Order: sequence, then C-alpha cells, then structure tokens
Amino acid sequence: MKIIMLGAPGAGKGTQAKRIAEKYNIPHISTGDIFRANIKNGTELGKKAKTYMDQGLLVPDELVVDLVVDRVAQDDAKNGYVLDGFPRTIPQAEALDAALEKINDKVDYAIDVDVPDSNIIDRMSGRRACVGCGGTYHIVYNPTKAEDVCDACGGQLILRDDDKPETVENRLKVYHDQTQPLIDYYTKKSILKSVDGTKDMNEVFENIVKILEV
Ligand code: AMP
Repeated sequence: MKIIMLGAPGAGKGTQAKRIAEKYNIPHISTGDIFRANIKNGTELGKKAKTYMDQGLLVPDELVVDLVVDRVAQDDAKNGYVLDGFPRTIPQAEALDAALEKINDKVDYAIDVDVPDSNIIDRMSGRRACVGCGGTYHIVYNPTKAEDVCDACGGQLILRDDDKPETVENRLKVYHDQTQPLIDYYTKKSILKSVDGTKDMNEVFENIVKILEV
C-alpha cells in the first residue's frame, strides 16, 4: 500500500500518517522529519534546508526528490509506505511517478486531509514539537500528560520556528500556490480521496481506514 498524504501545514496529516504506518506496519516517510534530523546533525543538507524552512518556503525540488526516491527504494518500503510532506510540487509528483514507473510501480492513494485556512493558524500556534524525538502534540487537541514534556521520550517541547504565526501565513500561501495543484493532479489519476480534517483525530483516522479497506 503506497500512500501519499496531502493537506495544508497543520491539517494533521503527520499525525494520521504515523497512525497509518503503525496500523499497516509500513514506514512513515516524512521529508520534514528528514530535514529536521539533518539540521540537528549539522549536515550540509540540513544547513541548506534550514534557510528555506525558517522562512516558511519550500526546499528546492532538487534537494528533495533524490532523497525520497532513494528512501522508497529501500527494503523496508517494499510492501508500501506513507509519504508525509512529499510531494509538495507538481515537479516532485512527476519525478516520483517517473521513478516508480521505471520499476513498474505506482502510488495507490493520495489522501487529502482537508482543513480550511481559518482553522489552520489557530491549530499551528498551539502545536508543540519535541526537541528530542520530533514527536508533535497540540496544547488543546492532543496535549501531553505533563505540560511541555514529551510523552514518548521525556524531551522538552517547543513551538517550532516554522509554526510561528508569521511563518505559518507564508507556509499557507506557499501551500495554495505550489502544493494545492496536486489535488487536481491526483484527481486526474483517480487516486485522490478526501477526508474532513476538522473532525476529531480518531474520527479522521477511522475515515481514512474506511477508504483504505474498501
Ligand atoms: P513539514 O514538517 O512537512 O511541515 O515540513 C517542514 C518544512 O520542510 C516545510 O515548510 C519545507 O520548508 C520543508 N519541506 C518538507 N518537505 C518538503 C518537500 N517535499 N519539498 C520542499 N520542502 C519541503
């Protein structure tokens, strides 16, 4: 099962992607997480990516595509994967399709977690990320047991630079300009499925499972 998660930043696609990966025992591949790990480790890729991420801009396609094409070719991805945060542009989607076509493969589902802009800013300002493991929470919708402490690893929680209100506005604009056209792209390929992302997290997940299990 090869799945792409679509949706505005803050729509909850990361949370859903992790749950799908767990339920179906397939890897969760988040390009945002890969970049953040590179930033943390001080790699060249991390340094390049950070300058774009801090402004709410997309990292250039050429820094992302090979990384994902290599990742999905690894052994643990043989039976499927959930891509979270990739593709984010039409050229990225075309590059992925071309790479998969070469090995007679294709994406099975593109799931759009649909949330209107008006909800997004409110959600993002309440989002908290763990400096240790990268886990994400929300102070209202998905709080940790102890305030500002990660449930999974005990790490400290912070508001990511790219979740700050001024950056979020930029990210939303970038989403509408560059990522939203993918909805059309995957609709034309007849693999787009939409879920209402304003619903409770568990209900969103149940609706995704229904889509994957028809
Ligand atoms: P995310 O955690 O998916 O919201 O990603 C955080 C940031 O990483 C984005 O705002 C972009 O700057 C960068 N990024 C992640 N995935 C991609 C991608 N597929 N293409 C370009 N930039 C990306």
